[in-house]
Amino acid sequence: MATDPTFGSFDPPPRLTVRRDRAESLARRHPWVFAGQLLHPPTNLPPGVVVDLVDEKGGFLARGGFNGESRIAVRVLTFEPAATVDAALIASRVRDSVARRDSLLQPDRTDAARLIFAEADRLPGVIVDQYGEWLVLQILSAAMARWRETIVEALVAQARPQGIYERSEGEDRRQHEGLAPSVGTIWGQEPPDEVVIREDGLRFGVDLRGGQKTGFYLDQRHNRAAVASGCGGAEVLNAFAYSGGFGLHAAAAGATRVTHVDSSAAALELCAANIARNPSGAGHELMQENVFDALRRFRAEGRAFDVIILDPPKFAASRQAVDRAARGYRDLNAAALRLLTSGGRLATFSCSGAVDRGLFHRVVAEAAVDAGRDLRLLAEFGHPADHPVLMSFPEGVYLKGLLAEVV
Ligand code: SAH
Repeated sequence: MATDPTFGSFDPPPRLTVRRDRAESLARRHPWVFAGQLLHPPTNLPPGVVVDLVDEKGGFLARGGFNGESRIAVRVLTFEPAATVDAALIASRVRDSVARRDSLLQPDRTDAARLIFAEADRLPGVIVDQYGEWLVLQILSAAMARWRETIVEALVAQARPQGIYERSEGEDRRQHEGLAPSVGTIWGQEPPDEVVIREDGLRFGVDLRGGQKTGFYLDQRHNRAAVASGCGGAEVLNAFAYSGGFGLHAAAAGATRVTHVDSSAAALELCAANIARNPSGAGHELMQENVFDALRRFRAEGRAFDVIILDPPKFAASRQAVDRAARGYRDLNAAALRLLTSGGRLATFSCSGAVDRGLFHRVVAEAAVDAGRDLRLLAEFGHPADHPVLMSFPEGVYLKGLLAEVV
């Protein structure tokens, strides 16, 4: 076997045999292979090398990136026997992913979007977000970490940013993939401390270095617009406000008053700056408080709202945590429903992948019973087109939401 000195890869790729009784997921084109699915999980292959997956008769199944440190031993990159996994293939996927977002981005209205969304763009573990002239890159798998330079070059060629900031960090990368953090400007100019982006004509300040996620919850763009459209003349509670997203869209759509609640002082600072950037007729109130406490307090004070937005952080980090998370969603939604005016609307979200749509429906229905309110479902929310999901990879679905009104 020859070794490619640049990448430490082998030609032809080492062949790993998938157990006959565990090959079914590959037949469904699921892109993850766990170590337990392999007949003899290798112990001597460097992280990130390209391997071939074969069946017990030696027939080709798929080709992907290996990582012996990870629960996910192989991340499939192609099911095509003839496709070579090399810099040209990775670069073409980067270019195509960026090009697919072209129609979403309109410089004077919306100049921020997710350009690469991991498995769905067939670049497993790679996230790239565009904020105006700047890109934030996250590489969370060893299979892709070795293609870092290739990815950066292709991004520069296709998206033409002023600079690219890397935020490859966090527990997943370290614990599950055995990778050290890699953080900082990797190409072009240093981004400013605050980048001001446009989302549907509104302006938001984004902290690329220190903000939550890569700085902004781009996945809610579409849902913010949908929820806001019913906010004319409304008194709105924007719970889990972060930098104000939902509340500012509601204000622009004619809400009379918006109360933003978040436990993070840094988030509320961003929110205040964004309120100042987007003049509207609405009054804004900012509260640094635990949402659960705030909802109880509002009840005691006899306050009511016409629209309540609940966009909490992930409650269930794993399958094991689902029951507790469901309890949390139920209590949270019940507490909010008690504060709605008659005919009032609840926009409620869950970004826990482990809580599926069916369970979330049930939990909100139970919360309505707890609160003694009848709910009429008006709309359901999910992923926007720049956060797509491969149908063969249902684990990619995490965001879901409901819009319901009090009957
Ligand atoms: N709706 C926001 C995103 C919300 S992210 C947007 O459109 O951009 C979740 C937010 O909830 C974070 O800002 C986090 O600081 C906040 N948070 C987490 N737990 C909280 C709690 N118990 N009470 C209040 N805020 C909380």
